[in-house]
Amino acid sequence: MLKRCAALLLALILFLSIGLAAGEGYDQVFDPAKDEGQFVIRFLWLGEKTAKDKPGDCMILKSPDGKVMVLDAGHPDAVSYVTEALDTLDITRIDYLVASHPHIDHIGGFPVLIENYEIGAMYTSPLTYGASSYYHAYLTAAQEKRLEHIILHEGDTFMFGNEIEVKVFNPPEEIPYPKDYGTGSTQFINDHSLAMKFTYGTRSLMLAGDLYVGGERAVVDRWGDELSSDFMKANHHGSNTSSSSAWRKTVGPKITFITSETIEDLSLTRKFTRNGQQMYHTLLDGCVRLAIDEAGNYEVTTEKVRTSTMFDSN
Ligand SMILES: [Zn+2]
Repeated sequence: MLKRCAALLLALILFLSIGLAAGEGYDQVFDPAKDEGQFVIRFLWLGEKTAKDKPGDCMILKSPDGKVMVLDAGHPDAVSYVTEALDTLDITRIDYLVASHPHIDHIGGFPVLIENYEIGAMYTSPLTYGASSYYHAYLTAAQEKRLEHIILHEGDTFMFGNEIEVKVFNPPEEIPYPKDYGTGSTQFINDHSLAMKFTYGTRSLMLAGDLYVGGERAVVDRWGDELSSDFMKANHHGSNTSSSSAWRKTVGPKITFITSETIEDLSLTRKFTRNGQQMYHTLLDGCVRLAIDEAGNYEVTTEKVRTSTMFDSN
């Protein structure tokens, strides 16, 4: 018995040390003690792809004055990754619960969050999606808790805490729906994702959900250089439906973050590392933390140490 315990202990130590050697670690990425006075954005790894669906997107943002935003909450099957992250961060209240668009890999986790956390208000675009039971599930959960529901559209601005201004560039307030809306509407829904630029001091971050190339083009045509940002999340999980050269050049980030369980497109992924630009990817890096301080200094912390040099900045 003792021998077996010793063997188990050795296995555990080995496992832990491999875990540590594999990166700065989950606890470093999710250490709330380091957040104070900074704008911190965490891009979550939400696990492997299930049989048919993507695990999706979830970002947890904290303002320098301690307000919390959860922007998307992944697929229902991935929600334990979201709650584990929130609990590790000692978060019990989500001041801003934001849905970029009503697809299952973005709003699937909402009912669990609405049930288990105190919510300040829920923010969505005006886009409705009556054909989806998941859309109804999250709206019903919000109505049962009598959450304030704020609709955001192009041209809106709001404050995230006292110091971060958020400007909305998409979708437009009036949405003309196609005749066959509800079936075959993936592209339409993605092109109506919320596109938001967060500005803190001299630094800015663009988060635009799953915009496709057509949606990107429309936003670039309407807003041009105002979209320019230091940091961005690649639209639609880094897939080649998105991240047109017009979008990449107009936003022109120093660092791109990709949230996906796979490398969606090798050559597109490499484009994010051109001309000294950097790219972080949840498949390669695990969960990723970006922290920006008052003076505009920034730091990226990753859960894993990357083993490949294929996507190093060049
Ligand atoms: Zn998605």
